[in-house]
Amino acid sequence: MDLAKPLKLLIDGEWLEPSGGQYFVTVNPATEEPIAEVAKGVPEDVDRAAVAARRAFDSGAWARFAPAARRDVLERMATLMHEKCDEFASLETADTGKPISQTKARDLPLACELLRYYAGWADKICGSSLPASAAGLGYTIREPVGVVGIITPWNSPLVLSLMKIAPALAAGNVLIHKPASLTPLTACRFAELALQAGLPPGVLNVVTGPGCSVGTAVVTHRLVDKISFTGETATGRQIMRDGAESLKRVSFELGGKSPNIVFADAPDLEVAAEFAARGFCVNAGQVCWSGSRLFVEARIHDQFVERLLARVSSDWRIGDPLDPMTSMGPLISRSHLHSVEGYVADAKNSGARLLTGGDRPAGKGFFLRPTVFTAVNNRMRIAQEEIFGPVLAVIPFDDVDDVAAQANDTCYGLAAGVWTSDIGRAHQLARQLRAGSIWVNTYGPNSVAAPFGGFKQSGVGRELGPEALSLFTEVKSVWVQLCSDPPQPSTRAAAKRAPL
Ligand code: NAD
Repeated sequence: MDLAKPLKLLIDGEWLEPSGGQYFVTVNPATEEPIAEVAKGVPEDVDRAAVAARRAFDSGAWARFAPAARRDVLERMATLMHEKCDEFASLETADTGKPISQTKARDLPLACELLRYYAGWADKICGSSLPASAAGLGYTIREPVGVVGIITPWNSPLVLSLMKIAPALAAGNVLIHKPASLTPLTACRFAELALQAGLPPGVLNVVTGPGCSVGTAVVTHRLVDKISFTGETATGRQIMRDGAESLKRVSFELGGKSPNIVFADAPDLEVAAEFAARGFCVNAGQVCWSGSRLFVEARIHDQFVERLLARVSSDWRIGDPLDPMTSMGPLISRSHLHSVEGYVADAKNSGARLLTGGDRPAGKGFFLRPTVFTAVNNRMRIAQEEIFGPVLAVIPFDDVDDVAAQANDTCYGLAAGVWTSDIGRAHQLARQLRAGSIWVNTYGPNSVAAPFGGFKQSGVGRELGPEALSLFTEVKSVWVQLCSDPPQPSTRAAAKRAPL
């Protein structure tokens, strides 16, 4: 991808100028230097993309491809992405500030795996036969939803986009992708690669530009059947309101404030401390499942916090994201840095005790040191609101019921961790905690095969695994009358004849 040239919009298989003729600049958050100029789409561009997408859908150019042919195209995408791993990892690191060690070791393998996993599903999406009447045949078919608007955030742009794009394409849908304006590079590069892999024109359209104009135009467009969105809970609410008029199908992956719970009998407190640090430091805390509330059993609170602080300083090295030794990069933007600093100031004013961090290292970039607060009450803002930065609230607890009540006392329900050697207690909490993913004696692992999503205001629906396919398909029932129905015994007469 030539970043010296402005990136255009992909509509109907062609790279086009935005209708308004304007471009915006993406900035590297580690250096504050511009990276590329990107097309600033307008609602007219969304209309062009929606018309192209609807035409592509109605023509059957993708939806009525043999399922095995869709599988082959997705597999080719995976192969091409694997060949271009280094290029994609560099683009993602420049755009997000995520350390290259993580984009190379985690994001790119996961991106390839998502394409392969859903390529494998493309020819296995089935309906079922139904118990019909003796004279008839009933069965269901799973069909693609149609034109899907895919709206994605900036924190892991490539992986979060493919969590939607791969199952949606496998099921035969056509797409309009609106990536986050802060991080559009890998979305544009992926679209190039998709065309190279043989995706027909109009099946994947990319319209870059602001959420408030381009995003809203996708949500409200009459030719768009469904919105698949990942982002803030407040934006999810707005999309639900905007989509209500046309009763858009929606699925949402939203915010979180996830509890990570450490009992005194955790199998290995050192490992628990390592994961507690990772839980809020990975991607500088800009992770929806961040374990940003750490509940520690009161009798080990002080010694565990000591271990935690040691792990934070030994494992989380802030620096240049292109340095392979760097484990923590910057926050995404200056305004986001200010927002996170606002939470730090608020926590201090509310009486929480700052043990480490809260400040920026010298130099350029939107960096913030890992920040740990104790003496936190679960009702404080720092414990209730999603900060989306490397800020941890440590909260003591007394017993299972106390911690379950505090952990569930939030509007979110994305994930939770439990560290204990008591298998019964682990299962009890797995049931009690109102969250879409529960990790026992670990924090944060996931697999493309494991459904992921939120209870409460953390989302609607589940991505990943086979569950994602139901987000991108409609079920149709077909009834076929084969001959006239034979007479049925009336139930009352049958009941009279039945022996006592
Ligand atoms: P955001 O809601 O600000 O933006 C997400 C996308 O929506 C962007 O592309 C944006 O341009 C677009 N958008 C904004 N307003 C819109 C509108 N009115 N209509 C249509 N589109 C609109 O989110 P963000 O700041 O980019 O991402 C961070 C958030 O994403 C955090 O809350 C995080 O928890 C959440 N997230 C959730 C998951 C999950 O799986 N649950 C994963 C990653 C991130």
